[in-house]
Amino acid sequence: MHCPFCRNPDSRVIDSRTSDDGLSIRRRRQCPQCGGRFSTIETASLNVIKRSGVIEPFSREKVMSGVRKACQGRPVTESDLAVLAQTVEEAIRQTGSSQIDTNEIGLAILRPLRDLDEVAFLRFASVYQAFDSLEDFEAAIDQLRLDHPDRHSRPGEDESAEG
Ligand SMILES: [Zn+2]
Repeated sequence: MHCPFCRNPDSRVIDSRTSDDGLSIRRRRQCPQCGGRFSTIETASLNVIKRSGVIEPFSREKVMSGVRKACQGRPVTESDLAVLAQTVEEAIRQTGSSQIDTNEIGLAILRPLRDLDEVAFLRFASVYQAFDSLEDFEAAIDQLRLDHPDRHSRPGEDESAEG
């Protein structure tokens, strides 16, 4: 890429560092002509196709704000949300696609959210999967019981000390 100082078309990489989450590489570059130094960040492109047809870059912050609403009043912290958003991004990137739709993001959120907080999961799923009856909730709750019999086999025992 062009040097931002003198527009020389060549530059040399003098340092290269992978971000903590492993999703991007930051390169320190130097222009051989003017000696100016600048940084570039390289990430695999990942775009989201919204329902309106608008395409925008994937944003962990948007994942977090969507999930945050479902977590109101639940013991879920901002760092839980950040970890969840990172998990979602990694899961999507592992599919190898560079473009996904909001539906696929919703699906990718459901699994880690279920592990994080079952009530928040049910809230999120009820909106996202458009639950419109008690039966839909019952089916989702039955599925939770099937998948986590250890958590649900003794009702009243956990969290019963609350209050
Ligand atoms: Zn230069």
